[in-house]
Amino acid sequence: MEKIETKFRKIVTEIPPKESMELLDSSYKYESRSMSGQPPVVWHSAKGFQVYDIHGNMWLDWSSGVLVANTGHAAEEIKKAIIEQLENDLLYNYCFPCKPRIEFAKELVSLFPDELNKSFILTTGSEAIEVAIKLARTQGIKKYGKKKIGIISFENGFHGRTMGAQMVGGIPALKEWIVNLDKDMFQVPFPDGFRYKQTGFDVFLERMNELGINPKEEIIAVLMEPYQGGGASFAPKEYVQSLKRWCDENEVLFIVDEVQSGFGRTGKMFAFEHYDVIPDIVCCGKGISSALPLSAVVGKSEIMDLYGPGEMTSTHGGNPICCASALANIKLMKKEGIVEKAEINGHILYEGLRRIKEKYPSIVSALHGKGLVYGLHITKINSEESDGATAKKIVFNCFENGLLMFSPVGFGGATIKICPPLIITKEAIQEGLEVLNKAFSEICGDLE
Ligand code: PMP
Repeated sequence: MEKIETKFRKIVTEIPPKESMELLDSSYKYESRSMSGQPPVVWHSAKGFQVYDIHGNMWLDWSSGVLVANTGHAAEEIKKAIIEQLENDLLYNYCFPCKPRIEFAKELVSLFPDELNKSFILTTGSEAIEVAIKLARTQGIKKYGKKKIGIISFENGFHGRTMGAQMVGGIPALKEWIVNLDKDMFQVPFPDGFRYKQTGFDVFLERMNELGINPKEEIIAVLMEPYQGGGASFAPKEYVQSLKRWCDENEVLFIVDEVQSGFGRTGKMFAFEHYDVIPDIVCCGKGISSALPLSAVVGKSEIMDLYGPGEMTSTHGGNPICCASALANIKLMKKEGIVEKAEINGHILYEGLRRIKEKYPSIVSALHGKGLVYGLHITKINSEESDGATAKKIVFNCFENGLLMFSPVGFGGATIKICPPLIITKEAIQEGLEVLNKAFSEICGDLE
């Protein structure tokens, strides 16, 4: 085994280290199988853009966990806010008012256009989606009667794993367990220009016609990820602008799922800004806190106030420690200009990835993304068939060499997703690119 020791990476044991096998075996024994499948590093600590095990190894992190640690792992300002709140002896308080939650709500709302002026704070991204669905349908029923409840979302979309979030998602295999799917949820093609070559808005209109839908009477909302999480694929700006116009004409709410794309990830605070549209409801999660479990729905007050006192609650929603830490996260983002940094450093990352795509055109069939999130789609040689096995080999080769990414995701499990903490430096991006290049040449060198 060759040791690796650079400024950003340190691999000094065999991987996985023998000493961590006992703990990994316990995980396989006591945790559901669904918790396995990632490169086998037992995280001991994580700081900035690096992850450490207890055996002296250090990885350069290109995962941010799963796009959570936007301001970096264990930022001092966030730790301080957590400790202060802890020492203040308020660890939990249900819906009773408390300063950290109220201050956080105010700060959160201030990040949005003026008309999105109220929030509801929750714990997970899936919950935020459930609430958005519920609010939209409630609005439909109250304002227009029981017929206007349809929700349109996108094929291959992902919105979480609870029942409503899964039903509104666009991956049929994930919803087989539901059996009785909601007949008023419809999916249309996502115009990524890759799996769906036709990116014009006419495709959307045609699909509405095929489905025999009268939007004014039957549809209350469109739910869209600004980029599809599986592949970091954006839609054309004109498409989204036409879609928003269509929503307005038909009194349909435009809901964006910013759970993954929000809080600077794409080089803007929110990814919907790339399209120059203002949504009616926004679902937030992940990078909203950079650490502790917190999510939120933000929207117009007429929608957010549809439920009366005590009618829309969650036992652990808006936990004071989570709110204090998320507030510190947003303040840190602003103070350090982290969104702007993501935009600038994103160009360096994109350029390096573009060169890899150019070097291996027969298997890298698409490179999508903006800011500091990219997906490299790996397909079989000169074909459009996803190649999850090769994508996984590349990710695991990087892992053995001190560059951490989660297992490939998306269509056929064949997208290598690159999403470092937004505080990553240019130098660390370059070093990560070297590791990725080496992995490609070791695994697919004959294709150069
Ligand atoms: N929406 C999107 C776009 C996501 O990426 C995710 C999580 N990967 C979710 C919703 C669900 O969030 P959570 O896992 O926190 O429930």
